[in-house]
Amino acid sequence: MNYGFVIDNRLCIGCHACSTACKSENEVPLGVNRTWVKYVETGVFPDSSRHFQVTRCNHCANPPCVEICPVTAMFKRSDGIVDFDGDACIGCKACIQACPYDAIYIDPDTLTAAKCHYCAHRTEIGLEPACVVVCPEQAIISGDIDDPHSTIRQLIDNNQVKTRKPEIGTKPKLFYIEGSTVTLDPIASVQIPSTYMWSDVEAGNKHAGIDKNANKLTKASTADGPVKIGGKVAEHMVQVSYDVNHKKAWHWPVAAYLTTKASAAGTYLMLMCAMAMGVADIGDVVSRVMSLIVLVAMVATGVFLCVDLERPERFLRVIIRPQWRSWLSRGAWILVGFGGIVISILGINLAAWLEIKHVDELENMLLRPATLLAWGGASSIVAICVATYTAYLFRQAKGRELWQGKYLPLHMGVQAAIAGSAICIMLMNWVGGVGDMYSFCVTVLCGGIAISAVIVYSEHIVDKNRVTAVRMSNQAMVFGEYRIWFWVGGIFCGHVLPLTVLFGAGTGFGTIVAVGALFGLFCYEYVFILAGQTVPNS
Ligand code: SF4
Ligand code: SF4
Repeated sequence: MNYGFVIDNRLCIGCHACSTACKSENEVPLGVNRTWVKYVETGVFPDSSRHFQVTRCNHCANPPCVEICPVTAMFKRSDGIVDFDGDACIGCKACIQACPYDAIYIDPDTLTAAKCHYCAHRTEIGLEPACVVVCPEQAIISGDIDDPHSTIRQLIDNNQVKTRKPEIGTKPKLFYIEGSTVTLDPIASVQIPSTYMWSDVEAGNKHAGIDKNANKLTKASTADGPVKIGGKVAEHMVQVSYDVNHKKAWHWPVAAYLTTKASAAGTYLMLMCAMAMGVADIGDVVSRVMSLIVLVAMVATGVFLCVDLERPERFLRVIIRPQWRSWLSRGAWILVGFGGIVISILGINLAAWLEIKHVDELENMLLRPATLLAWGGASSIVAICVATYTAYLFRQAKGRELWQGKYLPLHMGVQAAIAGSAICIMLMNWVGGVGDMYSFCVTVLCGGIAISAVIVYSEHIVDKNRVTAVRMSNQAMVFGEYRIWFWVGGIFCGHVLPLTVLFGAGTGFGTIVAVGALFGLFCYEYVFILAGQTVPNS
């Protein structure tokens, strides 16, 4: 058994009976939808058309929502249905970022992820999904797509069918007969919510700005020329007239978590470098303060991770019931391992401070070149994993093209080096310079900022990327609604200010260098997270 859907657009009359039946059958709350009929209008009266598209989960054969879920709350059944378990969900919203089709929402009552589950409770007892039964035109066909004698298989074989975004490789199992590009491709049409007929638009939706301009253009140009909407001549008009909200699932806590995580990993790597250079000792004040900073940054990382969860009280499930293909689970275990290393170092420091017996011998043993190389090298690899694993989590978020950049792991490593070296420079200003170590930190900071600037320039500013969704995100980031965060925060505070202070004001301004670098890092991550979510997926 391998369940799938066919939507026959030759028959669909856009009546929304399926949306209503689904709401009723599955008790879907107001404001969210498991299935809906997207409307797109083309042309201008009398040569206008309205295109319908029943839109929902595609029960993909290769579902990225399942791969990214850290606790197996999204899962694929043996009958091909992609189902969810609200009792297991922690509300991390990673599946929303992974689904390239906008099929998942957070249930406002349970604060857990939900979506079309093919009415699994009905199919298990031999009934068809509620939408199939209610459709007056029999435009929705369900069944086993692997059975050559089934109606659905024959419809697929005997008609030209299309799926949404086949290029992503998710292998959707919802096939449209006479599917239209203007509805299948979410960025082929202008999305102006005031032209929507009934759908609610999120309060404070940034589309409102585009909206006002669109109305102005329509009014102004009727008097002296062809009607224009969103800058397009109306004869060529393609606009959405009914759709759901495209809410952003991740906000500032994710940017804050990336910043504190980079600070923890970077500071630890600087500490290891200091020990390798012989300017820090495992029991000295520099080592104690740096380890403490790493620990505080790690605790803050955990707090920001929890703040972003819809069900923070379920956070420990990422550790105790991990789904190992998810980089959220892998990352959580990397953070746990790293936390253990930092606590051990602090424990040795504390024992030395309390003058506990035999600690001196342990310290001496740990600082022997061969042992230092072994544990310092191994723990540094863990720190590098802490800095970079999120790049692989972003790669699993297949719904966000901006986050698929090939230099992302390198950039995250470089960001950790910038944060760690800036924190060290500040620390050395406070406790007194440590000669070679200060020069080393300045070199790392300058090198990191230079590499970061090249990556930011090539990935976001020159923008040779041919993927339209990436260009749209970059537009929002560099020239659109996030431009102040990007230029003032990310570029000026994060790149220009630390270098200007270091070379223009001398060595006594480490605090300004660190604050600028860390605030700049936060601003960059903030726009990267939000701009990546500006492109609609349905
Ligand atoms: S990726 Fe989206 S469309 Fe595909 S199975 Fe998951 S929720 Fe459904
Ligand atoms: S735990 Fe996260 S990824 Fe899994 S279903 Fe819930 S919100 Fe989605």
